Amino acid sequence: MSDHTPEQAPAEGEKPYGADIQKPAVFENGLVRKIVLPLPFPQVQHVNVYVLGRRRSVLIDTGTSRQDSYDVLLDALRACGVEHLDAIYLTHGHIDHFGAAARLVKSGMADRLYVHEKELGNMDNSFDASLYGDQLRRYGLPESVLEMMRIALQFFDSFVQKPENVSFMAPGAFMPYDGGSLEVIHTPGHTAGSICLYDREKNFMLSGDTLLSRLSPNPLLEFYPAGGRRKSLVEYIDSIYKLYEMDLRVVYPGHYEIIYDHKPHIKSLFNFHYKRMMRIHNILRQAPATPYSIMGELFRKLHRRDMFLAVSEVIGHLDLLEQHDMVRSFERDGLLYYSAD
Ligand SMILES: [Zn+2]
Ligand SMILES: [Zn+2]
Repeated sequence: MSDHTPEQAPAEGEKPYGADIQKPAVFENGLVRKIVLPLPFPQVQHVNVYVLGRRRSVLIDTGTSRQDSYDVLLDALRACGVEHLDAIYLTHGHIDHFGAAARLVKSGMADRLYVHEKELGNMDNSFDASLYGDQLRRYGLPESVLEMMRIALQFFDSFVQKPENVSFMAPGAFMPYDGGSLEVIHTPGHTAGSICLYDREKNFMLSGDTLLSRLSPNPLLEFYPAGGRRKSLVEYIDSIYKLYEMDLRVVYPGHYEIIYDHKPHIKSLFNFHYKRMMRIHNILRQAPATPYSIMGELFRKLHRRDMFLAVSEVIGHLDLLEQHDMVRSFERDGLLYYSAD
């Protein structure tokens, strides 16, 4: 997540957050039902999951496996008249979106679980702390910050239940639900295997964390064990451009309010990233800097727990600048510097 907040009032008929969150909101003549679940994170307090279909239902994302969230989910499913789920379709492999999947399948509540294959790494605790530590040290992050990140990671890991028997959703596939089908649109950026699910006939989309009404989704840093890393923000910009070109009637996101005007919303995201990119360019025109010191210039008051998100953003914008030949990078004393001279 970032500090970018194109604030938007809740759409008419939608309850604001915190009010009556157990009561599922109903859309598309009862075919799409939105359930808001609590999260234990200070940055984002709720996640949206959606039940689609009437008799044979599917669930889009699950919330975490924590008891408070699981209870709200089961109550809401019951309130929707859903006794059983044919399938769970996951927008991506972050704990707030897939956490309860293993539990739902194990309990017999859901039959099958689908995700883009590139998300498996996110879901199975295979995060290599030393690999990330080495790279982040190169970016100039001090040991105290790295230690804080390790602690945050242990917290996340403490309630990961790895799902078994996961099936893959390939881009372009059509995933059925009782009332229609959802096309899998691959929208890498926030994560490598983030997808949006698109009902072409009724012209609505479920966007996971790729489009959110209030925040610009964070293009998370991802290092490969064999070396190199994903250019998350470059990918993300391409993905939202793809969505910008679509004439969507409504977008159901993974957090916050439903989006009825995705084009101006995406335009404001382009604007935000362009401005941020130019701000970093200006900083680098004064003197070469490490990603960590750029971060300090950009975010004056940054909580240590948010530093991974912040450094992910800075690297994302540096990648965009590099893509446009506006900066270059070099190593000095084991640190990575960027310059704009
Ligand atoms: Zn996410
Ligand atoms: Zn999320």
